[in-house]
Amino acid sequence: MEKIIPYGRQNITEDDILAVIETLKSDFLTQGPKVLEFEKNFASYIGCKYAVAVSNGTAALHLCALAIGISEGDKVITTPITFSASANCIRYCGGEVVFSDIDPNTLLIDIPKVRLLLEKSPRGTFKGIIPVDFAGRPVNLEVLRKLADEFGLWIIEDACHAPGAYFVDEKRNIQNCGNGKYADLAIFSFHPVKHIATAEGGMITTNNKELYDALLIYRTHGITNQSALFQNSMEFANGGDKSAHKYPNWYMELQELGYNYRLTDMQAALGITQLQKADVGLIRRKEIALNYDIAFDGHKNVVSKANELKKDESFSHAYHLYIILVKDRLGLYNYLREKNIYAQIHYIPLHLMPYYRQFGWKEGDMEDAEEYYKQCLSLPMYPTLNDEEQQYVINSINEFFEK
Ligand SMILES: *Cc1c(COP(=O)(O)O)cnc(C)c1O
Repeated sequence: MEKIIPYGRQNITEDDILAVIETLKSDFLTQGPKVLEFEKNFASYIGCKYAVAVSNGTAALHLCALAIGISEGDKVITTPITFSASANCIRYCGGEVVFSDIDPNTLLIDIPKVRLLLEKSPRGTFKGIIPVDFAGRPVNLEVLRKLADEFGLWIIEDACHAPGAYFVDEKRNIQNCGNGKYADLAIFSFHPVKHIATAEGGMITTNNKELYDALLIYRTHGITNQSALFQNSMEFANGGDKSAHKYPNWYMELQELGYNYRLTDMQAALGITQLQKADVGLIRRKEIALNYDIAFDGHKNVVSKANELKKDESFSHAYHLYIILVKDRLGLYNYLREKNIYAQIHYIPLHLMPYYRQFGWKEGDMEDAEEYYKQCLSLPMYPTLNDEEQQYVINSINEFFEK
């Protein structure tokens, strides 16, 4: 095929383009009505109380780390199979990253292994955990919350791969990823390869009002203009005028060392129209997954990691990624590349990146993650991948193994 088939890509349609143009003609390019509308719509899509739009998913993680109070030396647990930002946010605040291995079946952080880690250390050693709904498969946060409560940990859910995914809890209720029922905070990314694209962009969701207020302040430099939160006196704010009964309109306070992590109104306008397509996109992702499942069912050389054919009723996958395991991964990767199919690897185990090796992490520390890395390949998966292109991908994989 002439055209390059990537592993993921955005779906921008005419309504998206018009929405951005309209915002460009409006009074607000940033911090206008679109950000609030996007936040409101996103919160209702996910089913949480509060949503805070930010400049990207990494900024979302950083703000969560600040709001939850990670500080120098705090030990926080996360998975080695994730994008680096899930762990880096701990380092931004001076915390220590403690990796805990994956479950080779689900590819998610292995909760029993986390328990072992917690049990062998004195209580209070760990402050929190950052689970990742890797590939779009939800972590069972009900189970993780019980463990976290036992050991006094907070939870930040990295749900970048999983908008629209859910798990079914013990009472058979559907729990959407990021809905704030079990995690203190959750984050999403709107990078073009994710489900919703705003070029750069991210969202934090929570049901906790205190954390929500803190996020708003940290997102905008550490400044607040809400008079209920002001710390300086009214007299000072009014420039020494004792007769004033309220804070003047110009007044605002820098209360924390914050950042400028705002999303623009142009991006939020795009986010609003993108969100309207999210469910249709999710249905298409599931169709594509099912086609792959059928193609690789009982395959001699290909193992698919999530399988709609053998549907597990305890969760619903969002298929950010469709991952297969193969023996000659390098060979297959190169073969597909020659055919203009740009499959990808998610992820190189994070503990073995030079940055994390400096803290003592080494080969053999996370056996399941390392074994997984040797075989994994993410196949093209995005709503605009058409049937013909998908068949071409499948045929090319079969050709490789029949060579
Ligand atoms: C994409 C991603 C991020 C970071 O999001 P950006 O918007 O690219 O900063 C964080 N965690 C995971 C798991 C991701 O996939």
